[in-house]
Amino acid sequence: MERKKLRFFRFGFAGVALFASLFAVLVEAGLLSKSPLEGSEIVLSTDKPFDASLVLVTVHMARALKPSQKVYAEFAGSRFDFYPVPKSDQEVYQGVVAIPYLQKPGAYQMVVGVDRDQTKVPLKVRKSTYPSEKLTVDPSKVFPPPNVMPRISQEGKEVSKIYAERRLEKLWSGPFAFPIHSPLTSPFGVQRMYNKQFKGFHKGLDLKAAVGAEVAAPEEGVVRLAKDLYFTGGTIILDHGYGLMTLYAHLSELKVKVGQSVKKGEVIALAGSTGRATGPHLHWGAIVNGVKVNPTELTKVLR
Ligand SMILES: [Zn+2]
Repeated sequence: MERKKLRFFRFGFAGVALFASLFAVLVEAGLLSKSPLEGSEIVLSTDKPFDASLVLVTVHMARALKPSQKVYAEFAGSRFDFYPVPKSDQEVYQGVVAIPYLQKPGAYQMVVGVDRDQTKVPLKVRKSTYPSEKLTVDPSKVFPPPNVMPRISQEGKEVSKIYAERRLEKLWSGPFAFPIHSPLTSPFGVQRMYNKQFKGFHKGLDLKAAVGAEVAAPEEGVVRLAKDLYFTGGTIILDHGYGLMTLYAHLSELKVKVGQSVKKGEVIALAGSTGRATGPHLHWGAIVNGVKVNPTELTKVLR
């Protein structure tokens, strides 16, 4: 009995020592790497974002990643892929995290990860206040006629499919420009109440524009949709990479085709009042990983 115990002790001690030295050798040789996020620095453009806004997340890695390792963030059920920042003296990755519209104010934990290694970063979501539009109208005028429902449904699916696609190439190179330089006529997020019922919100912002006014690409991108849709009339969707897209609606003339690359400042369309518009204007929308955000964020937060 005593001898057995002693043997076990000897073997246990030698085993642990052997394992520890082997582990140290493997770590030294880079065969067993430390946790990729250990010692890394995570910087946020803000840790107190409003809903429907963007948080630019920068990760300064303590050590180089393998090409197969992917940096990402998770918030409110969405995953945001990060891109490497070129010309940085160490390994730097950035990602654009979107806070959904009407996200409940309060304390949250945003996940930042490299493969299965994750860390939590505290975020405090602040409450935005949105004006509401109250309209009392004949319900038959609010809802489109039944014969156009298949068209509306098909167009909704087409747009959702585009929003779900990911082009892992960062095409923008700085803050976005406004597509037209004119006053705001309706802000983002206005709550629409038809006959005292919440019927959605204004998913973009309206800029004053006469029929025929030039609409310019706010940054480099690829045209993903350029056609006439029931609600938004002449519509263009640009893909700027990493799930970041912009939408232009009620256009009178489309000057680009699907698949075409556009440069920043290039005229993509002429403004109008097509679709269900109350008058000529440009409706500008911004979508980040399918989350609709205030387009103004693109002009302020992005680098
Ligand atoms: Zn609008």
